[in-house]
Amino acid sequence: MPVDPLNLIVIPMAIALCLLFVLAAVYDVISFRRRKSKDESIYRCRSCRHIYTELYRTPLARCPKCGEQNEPIRQ
Ligand SMILES: [Zn+2]
Repeated sequence: MPVDPLNLIVIPMAIALCLLFVLAAVYDVISFRRRKSKDESIYRCRSCRHIYTELYRTPLARCPKCGEQNEPIRQ
C-alpha cells in the first residue's frame, strides 16, 4: 500500500499540534489554580510604570524597581 508523502508530514504535525494543545490546556489549568490559591494582586508603579505582583493582598506594595508604594490595579 503506497503512502502519500504528504501524509508523512501532515499526520505527525497534527499529532504534535494536538499534544501541544493538550499541554497548553493542562498548563493553563495548573497555573490558574496556583494563581487563585496564592491570591496574587497586580500593581503598577505610579512613578516608573513597572508592573509587578504580590503574593498576598495588601493595600500597598513596594515597587521592586524604585521603591514607590502603590495600590493594586487588580486583585
Ligand atoms: Zn517603580
